[in-house]
Amino acid sequence: MTDNDFLKELHNPDVPVPEGMQSAVAVTNIGRLMDSIYNWGRRNSIWPMAFGLACCAIEMIATAASRYDQARFGMEVIRASPRQADLMIVSGTVTKKMVVPIVRLYNQMPEPKYVLAMGACACGGGPFKEGYNVVSGVDKFLPVDVYVPGCPPTPQALLHGFIALQKKIDAQSLGNYNSVPWYGRGPSDAIPVPVLGPDLYDPRQGHIMRRQHEAAQSAAQDKQADA
Ligand code: SF4
Repeated sequence: MTDNDFLKELHNPDVPVPEGMQSAVAVTNIGRLMDSIYNWGRRNSIWPMAFGLACCAIEMIATAASRYDQARFGMEVIRASPRQADLMIVSGTVTKKMVVPIVRLYNQMPEPKYVLAMGACACGGGPFKEGYNVVSGVDKFLPVDVYVPGCPPTPQALLHGFIALQKKIDAQSLGNYNSVPWYGRGPSDAIPVPVLGPDLYDPRQGHIMRRQHEAAQSAAQDKQADA
């Protein structure tokens, strides 16, 4: 078997490789074969961002301390910079004012990155869901990987969430782009940062607001014409 035949043998038909890059095919497939080792390293070396919003953050801090010792899961390196973190633990009430920097911080984290919503507030607004100043769940703005319910969740519950995240990482494969959308695609698109004015405005919903505005305008014109 020639070298070229060997590379063809390794070629993964799910991954379209341009003619001139055939020599890179071996790397792609080695990545696939090495999934378990690669994921083992990633799941045991998650760097959470130092970041807390409300009462839930106290339980998160307790989880990091000696009694519950999240270092057992390889997560003791808590970073103060989003540039060095790959896990955002949203622990606490997400206010409309705070969601703006939260999205900015998320955009600054390098891929692969994960979001864990800790507590009823981060998962869905919690006891403040109807509050004029509260976002009813951080997943309205960010892709959440793991939800840890509770008010507040205990450190054990948060550890359970860490284990759920580790299982998710274990199931990812570099050979399957659908399970690792960040792999081999260059920088991911930034999430549009919400704008805080009289109320919170999500740029992704601009077309809906424009449609509603146009409908309201045409209804007003029809009313004027009838009068
Ligand atoms: S879920 Fe409960 S404990 Fe956590 S931030 Fe909200 S009110 Fe506080």
